[in-house]
Amino acid sequence: MSNVLNEVLLANREYANSFDKGDLPMPPGRRFAILTCMDARLDPAKYAGLSEGDAHVIRNAGGRASDDAIRSLVISYKLLGTREWFVIHHTDCGMETFTNEIMGDLLSSSLKTASVDADGWHDSCEGPGCTDGKYINWLTIKDQAQSVTEDVMRIRNNPLVPSDIPIYGYIYDVKDGKLIEVPEATAAGRA
Ligand SMILES: [Zn+2]
Repeated sequence: MSNVLNEVLLANREYANSFDKGDLPMPPGRRFAILTCMDARLDPAKYAGLSEGDAHVIRNAGGRASDDAIRSLVISYKLLGTREWFVIHHTDCGMETFTNEIMGDLLSSSLKTASVDADGWHDSCEGPGCTDGKYINWLTIKDQAQSVTEDVMRIRNNPLVPSDIPIYGYIYDVKDGKLIEVPEATAAGRA
């Protein structure tokens, strides 16, 4: 068994030993949702003070308002009653380090994990890759404040999102753990 698998199962056993949250209702008790990046340095439960049952946390690369993130947000309010949403991107995000073009080139030559150095991204091996794969918009980021604002606007302008849900735009600083508001995003997300 892999070390990671062992460690996860052991940690889960410990968690389950003192588990006392078995009676929580499905709708989030504090009635809000956070859309944020999957970056391993971010822990929304800690940076936003969440416990089990409190809020929805939707995570993807960059915390972007992709169709799938919006799908989750719509389910979050329509079926599970959330009333306020946050879009939280962060400093030093990996999504700032590449473009759609770079990702397409890397994938077309190899499906192995790529490496990065001062000259940019490189494939770790040569070989045929998924040149026939469908093109994906990777939703890379040039500027955090701009990407937060774009995403808040994309959610705000979706016809399935009611206008009375406020959407707040923030950037999490990986150096000090602080949330910094992006005022133009919060303004765009005003209920
Ligand atoms: Zn990120």
